[in-house]
Amino acid sequence: MHTLPDSAKRLIDELSRLPGVGRKTAQRLAFHFLSSDVELSHSLSTALLDIKQKIKNCSSCHGITEKDPCKICSDEKRNSSLICVVENAYDIFVFEKTNSFSGKYHILGGALSPLDGIGPEDLNIDTLLERVVEGMEVIIATNPSVEGETTALYLSNILGKKGVSVTKLARGVPVGSDLEYIDEATLIRAMEGRVSV
Ligand code: ZN
Repeated sequence: MHTLPDSAKRLIDELSRLPGVGRKTAQRLAFHFLSSDVELSHSLSTALLDIKQKIKNCSSCHGITEKDPCKICSDEKRNSSLICVVENAYDIFVFEKTNSFSGKYHILGGALSPLDGIGPEDLNIDTLLERVVEGMEVIIATNPSVEGETTALYLSNILGKKGVSVTKLARGVPVGSDLEYIDEATLIRAMEGRVSV
């Protein structure tokens, strides 16, 4: 490795900071860029900058979007009286892939975790309460982890007082796992079989 030019070493260092990329993969990728056309490096660096410069959070659901409100929030064909509450923006992508949900979403931006000092004021709960009106259904789809369950319990208490029907995903899913690792069929079943809380 010490024989590599500094710029190549730097790229390998940067790549190996990415999730799921080990040192070996980072080296392979770096050599791939070295032997490829400059166009590949150029388009990749532009794409990386674009997601940081063009993408913002939807002011309604807090999802990621280039236009505010996002496509889902502004889609009139979707059911506005059905809101699926998730922890992270990535979870929306997970549900949308199943093509089985026609309501809207709300992103909390995490889960309650007293040990890490994350309380209700750190999550997008106030904006959720502004969105809900009596007669709506709110599906709480936080991760099946201790933090996710704590958050679900907290939300069901405050939402219950607002006259909305609160449901939770049916759990065919292993406790402790993140929604993103659940296969689509299980997720569709969990959504269809959701239960009142
Ligand atoms: Zn939105």
